[in-house]
Amino acid sequence: MTESRFAVIIVGAGVAGCSAALLLARAGINTLLLERGSEAGSKNVSGGRLYTHALAHMVPEFAASAPLERQISQEKLSLLSSDSAVTLDYRHPTPVSYSLLRARFDAWLMAQAQAAGAHCLTGVQVDQLLLQQGRVVGVQVAGEALLADCVMVAEGANSLLTEQAGLQPKPAANTMAIGVKEVLALAPERLEERFSLEGNQGCAWLFAGAATQGKIGGGFLYTNRQSLSLGVVCHLSELADSRVALPQMLQQFKQHPTIRPLIKQSELCEYSAHLLPEGGLASVPKLVGNGYLLLGDCARFCVNRGYTVRGMDLAMLSAQAAAETVIAGRPLADYPQRLQQSTLWAVMQRYRRLPQIMLRSPHWFNRYPQLAAKVLNEMFCGDQQPPSALYQLLWRHARQIGLKQLVKDTFNGMRNL
Ligand SMILES: Cc1cc2nc3c(=O)[nH]c(=O)nc-3n(C[C@H](O)[C@H](O)[C@H](O)COP(=O)(O)OP(=O)(O)OC[C@H]3O[C@@H](n4cnc5c(N)ncnc54)[C@H](O)[C@@H]3O)c2cc1C
Repeated sequence: MTESRFAVIIVGAGVAGCSAALLLARAGINTLLLERGSEAGSKNVSGGRLYTHALAHMVPEFAASAPLERQISQEKLSLLSSDSAVTLDYRHPTPVSYSLLRARFDAWLMAQAQAAGAHCLTGVQVDQLLLQQGRVVGVQVAGEALLADCVMVAEGANSLLTEQAGLQPKPAANTMAIGVKEVLALAPERLEERFSLEGNQGCAWLFAGAATQGKIGGGFLYTNRQSLSLGVVCHLSELADSRVALPQMLQQFKQHPTIRPLIKQSELCEYSAHLLPEGGLASVPKLVGNGYLLLGDCARFCVNRGYTVRGMDLAMLSAQAAAETVIAGRPLADYPQRLQQSTLWAVMQRYRRLPQIMLRSPHWFNRYPQLAAKVLNEMFCGDQQPPSALYQLLWRHARQIGLKQLVKDTFNGMRNL
């Protein structure tokens, strides 16, 4: 067995790994980034909308060179029943996020790290973390030992290496979700007309209810320059007893009367599936140990609020905290403290109860979308019946759920979202 030595080895060239490599290399630290995919991003999946605050901190001139798709200026949120949609539509005066395609974005981010001096290898699968007397001393790749003072594990949500090394337990099914996504090519003129967009404006559209057939999860649609990213995400614990498999859910979502006209004449050009962590702060494992740090999804830094998913910006923030710890020459044990001072922790703290609330209030995904549809239907199509006052109409439908439940869910939603 041959041996090579680095100051830092990073496993995984997703957003977290590439960001850490960029910052470390810029500070002159001998860094090796390893990615099993043939290119950075080739195995990665996001909806994908990136909030750019963390990227702007790392690469202030990102807007000029990063392969971002459209600047999100239109937000939509729909409650779907099987044949109707109740939609909230909001246009931003000041967009702060972009749609993106991971294959292009991650490759660009890795190129930034490479230009800064990081050694980046793709098509290289790390087989295991090397442990010596309880310390992680490097990684093993195709029988070769690569040694480092610090190993940053950014292997993503499917954390096989760290589980195998006993650094974290296998996550519980009720803390993880799985998403399937299609990228559908569509001519820009058609896309802009269908979504009422001008120039580089983009739309982010999230769906609850029939998108996942009433299961905990939701649908998403993002406009790219010349394509749409369309998919569904569903809690793993919900799929175990579901009669409909996730790929089938996506196909049925595509047939919904709200979606069908939007994707007409589009062509499938990419299909992917991926896990995402949704267990919140309570599911975050031990973040640091002898010789290693956990970053990004591998550390469960992801928040799904139903109307936005934030994982990529949190992955970047975790990379920043990890890189700063090493650059400052501080013990690795300082990493959690740096994280706690970062926006990442504030986000994780703010939404810490959300995963439990979602599990305890499944009505948000089934009965409330139906309730909204029934109320709106009566308001707009109820000409045949004697008219009711709005409060009577609302009460008639809402009491089927129960006032206590409704108040409880509304209160919990308001408090924790
Ligand atoms: C369907 C879906 C929709 C999402 N939507 C959004 C969104 O709109 N906005 C948002 O901010 N976030 C979104 N997320 C979450 C976001 O994608 C993740 O939070 C983010 O990708 C985490 O980045 P990461 O670098 O930690 O992990 P990843 O991006 O998963 O990168 C991990 C990398 O490690 C590599 N790797 C793994 N094991 C090995 C090994 N043994 N050897 C070498 N390489 C290895 C993988 O190939 C991969 O490149 C979504 C996720 C999903 C699944």
